[in-house]
Amino acid sequence: MKLNERGLLIVLSGPSGVGKGTVRKALFEMDGHDLVYSISMTTRPPREGEIDGVDYYFVSKAEFERRIKDGELLEYAQFVGNYYGTPKDKVDEQIALGKEVVLEIEVNGALQVREKAPDGVFIFIAPPNKGALHRRLQRRGTEAPEKIQARMDKAEMEFPLAHKYDYIVVNDEVMNAADRIMAIIRAEHAKTERSIYKYNEILEVK
Ligand code: 5GP
Repeated sequence: MKLNERGLLIVLSGPSGVGKGTVRKALFEMDGHDLVYSISMTTRPPREGEIDGVDYYFVSKAEFERRIKDGELLEYAQFVGNYYGTPKDKVDEQIALGKEVVLEIEVNGALQVREKAPDGVFIFIAPPNKGALHRRLQRRGTEAPEKIQARMDKAEMEFPLAHKYDYIVVNDEVMNAADRIMAIIRAEHAKTERSIYKYNEILEVK
């Protein structure tokens, strides 16, 4: 029997435009076999190239609100005029199978998850500075200027909440950030509080 059979719930969070998606993809390329991405649900219309069921589950507002009512979401938040949320069913199932389930969500949602799953690993991805964040949002070129400003305003409210996370990873360079996250995952697995029960069982420690 191997130690650490249960997977980890890994929450990657931080301001919009910080590069959470790019870092997450780099992480999956480094070692994808035990990592499972939790596909979120949103009422935002798809951007060019986004695929339903891969990038997000794109649903109507009515459908999203029904899922809230029926308790199908682990967390949800409104972000710049749209709903975003994490479907609950797959998360528990995959963790029980020993998979690391990776959530990539904004700050309000992450803090909701922290209440429900305190044993999760909460990682705040920070920009190297504010200018870099603004430039990234502009470069993406998919949003109107007032939406970009709304995302910057939201980021200003999110920066002070980083202290509520277990780790802060600065996305100065994508591969560096992904490397640090991989190191965090490995260290979290080796934590005594996660492995002591299994260890005692295997080595018959009384
Ligand atoms: P975007 O419109 O740029 O795809 O996403 C806007 C923000 O919502 C990003 O910060 C993104 O990480 C976040 N987000 C994506 N999925 C979820 C989710 O399921 N729950 C929450 N709370 N935020 C999410």
